[in-house]
Amino acid sequence: MPDVKPARVRFAPSPTGSLHIGGARTALYNYLLARQTGGRFILRIEDTDQTRFVPGATEQVMAGLRWLGLQWDEGPDVGGPHGPYIQSQRADIHRAHAGQLVEAGAAYYCFCTKERLDALRREQQILKRQPRYDGHCRLVPPEEAKARQAAGEPCVVRFKVTEGAKTTVRDLLRGDITVDNASLDDFIILKSDGLSLYHLAAMVDDHLMGITHVIRGSEWLPSLPKHALLLRAFGWDEPAWVHLSVFLKPSGKGKLSKRESANLKAEEGHSVFVHDMQELGYMREAVLNWLALMGWSLDDKTDVLSLDEMIAGFSLDRLNPAPAAVNFDKLDHFNGLHIRGLPQAELARRLLPYFDGAGLKADEAALLRIVPIIQERIGTLDEAVDMAGFFFRPNVTPRREQLIPKGLDASSALAALLAARDRLAALPDLTHAATEAPMRALAEELKLKPGQLFGILRVALTGQPVSPPLFETIALLDRPVVFERIAAAEALLLGSEK
Ligand code: GLU
Repeated sequence: MPDVKPARVRFAPSPTGSLHIGGARTALYNYLLARQTGGRFILRIEDTDQTRFVPGATEQVMAGLRWLGLQWDEGPDVGGPHGPYIQSQRADIHRAHAGQLVEAGAAYYCFCTKERLDALRREQQILKRQPRYDGHCRLVPPEEAKARQAAGEPCVVRFKVTEGAKTTVRDLLRGDITVDNASLDDFIILKSDGLSLYHLAAMVDDHLMGITHVIRGSEWLPSLPKHALLLRAFGWDEPAWVHLSVFLKPSGKGKLSKRESANLKAEEGHSVFVHDMQELGYMREAVLNWLALMGWSLDDKTDVLSLDEMIAGFSLDRLNPAPAAVNFDKLDHFNGLHIRGLPQAELARRLLPYFDGAGLKADEAALLRIVPIIQERIGTLDEAVDMAGFFFRPNVTPRREQLIPKGLDASSALAALLAARDRLAALPDLTHAATEAPMRALAEELKLKPGQLFGILRVALTGQPVSPPLFETIALLDRPVVFERIAAAEALLLGSEK
């Protein structure tokens, strides 16, 4: 059942690097729910941890989301009624809320020095106890604590976790999750410099921004009880909690690690970073389709989906919490399907930047003529350059041995090439219909397999052993180019044996 109330959801990346597939999938599901319910998709940059801040990361994340077509309704650049949307600019709001919790007795100032905390940790290590804060400053009378804080004594604010109790939170995919409060510690919510720690900042912001569903990675599950306790201490409603599945390595064994992810591009031509995907020739539609089905399904059979179809069909109860292996073969598969599904003019438009990038002078009109013979044959957009770049090069540079098919020597290959040249030269035009029959006949006369003769011509005309179909290719080359390239191949075959 689709959720009918307009959802207010957020994608809340920390600016620690470029957008990766895990983040992109989280953003996608949030986006789908917002669009489906007529709600709002909010982008919030969570930069409270300045030590992990990477300059340029926010812009990279935004560029990645835009490339995917996941435009946010409220966010740092577009504004909105609940800004600012950069967490570090909300420090005063967070500090005031920490103060509220202290006033209410749900949090307290902690004056413990680093030395005391270090000693406490050593003692707990020796006694083989779990390291945790011992609640020492809970005993400072509130009036005294307030006076010491006001006098400027360094202190943090800790959340008071009720002792001897358990906390239960419901995740929509995983059901009730219960933890013993003893495992939670009186965690710090405000540092001595007055800046909020992540847990407080995120919950205050979620509440003030009216977030109805928190859809995020499962690495946040251990924080969930703290988040729920914070919201409850303020007396605020909890959002619906949804913790998505983790991504496993393509082998299915173990989580996809950062280092392995970094090597993927060099080693396999794949990448977990959205900004690489475009360069590697993937279409946004294919990436979205692939991401959507890594943890969600429309039904048990549909696999090709447009963004609009995903919006229409999305439902939280078809999310799957089981770990999902990152399968790049599937991405290639989807990319091929989406390439084949594109209207020809649109494919030509999308191919142009790849030809430009390779320094080839192509234009949309020329690409549109070539599209019909490559659309079925490319798996990624950049493959079009390998497959059909020869149309736009002034000449091609095959190697001599590529011109000599198996079973022939240089002189018989040369003889076949020249005979083909003469037959082609006698034809008034070089359309597919005009060339195929005479070339087949010639192969028979010369007692060659068609593949041998066609192979010589293919290499001579395209410079490569694999190309789009030969006769369609000949038809698309300018007539003089056909004979120039044949002449160049002739010279190569006549040249030295080396
Ligand atoms: N800033 C967190 C991250 O980058 C988001 C956590 C959340 O969605 O609550 O993973």
